[in-house]
Amino acid sequence: MRSWWKGRAEASERLSRFNAPRYAYCTCPPKYNVNPYLGRCAHNCLYCYAVKFPSFQGPLKPRFKLVREIGRMAARTRPKLPVMLSDTTDPYQPAEARYEITRKCLEALVKEGFPILIVTKSDLVARDLDLLSSGKAAVSITVTSLDDRFSRLMEPGAPPPFRRLKALRRLAEAGIPAIARIDPIIPGLNDNPEDLEHLVMRLKDVGVKHVTASTLKPVRGFFKRLGKVSPPLAARLQEAYRQAETVAGYGYLPSQARLKTVSLVRGYVLREGMTFASCRENLQHLNTSICDGTAYIYRQARLSSSF
Ligand code: SF4
Repeated sequence: MRSWWKGRAEASERLSRFNAPRYAYCTCPPKYNVNPYLGRCAHNCLYCYAVKFPSFQGPLKPRFKLVREIGRMAARTRPKLPVMLSDTTDPYQPAEARYEITRKCLEALVKEGFPILIVTKSDLVARDLDLLSSGKAAVSITVTSLDDRFSRLMEPGAPPPFRRLKALRRLAEAGIPAIARIDPIIPGLNDNPEDLEHLVMRLKDVGVKHVTASTLKPVRGFFKRLGKVSPPLAARLQEAYRQAETVAGYGYLPSQARLKTVSLVRGYVLREGMTFASCRENLQHLNTSICDGTAYIYRQARLSSSF
């Protein structure tokens, strides 16, 4: 009979599952998750939700050891679910250009036949087109606004929007399902209907197939962090969230306000012929596809197997 500790040791040598329950109203289908980096993400987004997780605390921790372990972990796990990179610290840190930890993880996962879901805010992902065009990958890049000033204020360490759009175009041209996340949509900052319409049209123009949208859900400390950068803006947003409901540690705008914003974006997205999903809004009846792009990797795999 297998000993208890041996069973546990073996389990820790497999890929771990994405922990959906820690996100309120999460509609993600089951998947594995790999974090090539832990600790504080260099993109330094003021609105970052990951700040509430212990794995995000402290300086950036590149996981060099994972490079040695990932091949064995992937081989011990059945490739029946996709693997997401990553649920907290962005897998395409500026340091990834030098360390290539994410790339080496991808090499091992692709070799074992895992479908891949990338979630990033960096155009560095386009470096790995060769691996991602293996036929079973979808890439989500967050583009919150076309306005550089918004990005410099709210995402000061992330590549500017035009570089993210360029990466989306390169992915689409390489035949990789390109997904854009308009997340978060912040009242009074990037929720102007004309700006959102313009953004959606640009996403269509660069070849995006699917858009996932989500309103800002502040976590503890958000207003304080914002207040250090812009006290008037922090005060204005605090007022906008005065009636927010807290769900699992996230501040939710009243449902009518969320419905209005999400429906607006949905209308533009469907008009442009893309699929749409909301993320953690409790508005899943508005979704026309799966929020994380899973539907596209299977669609893509079906298409390639028919040749
Ligand atoms: S890129 Fe993502 S993980 Fe990194 S700071 Fe921004 S929101 Fe947080």
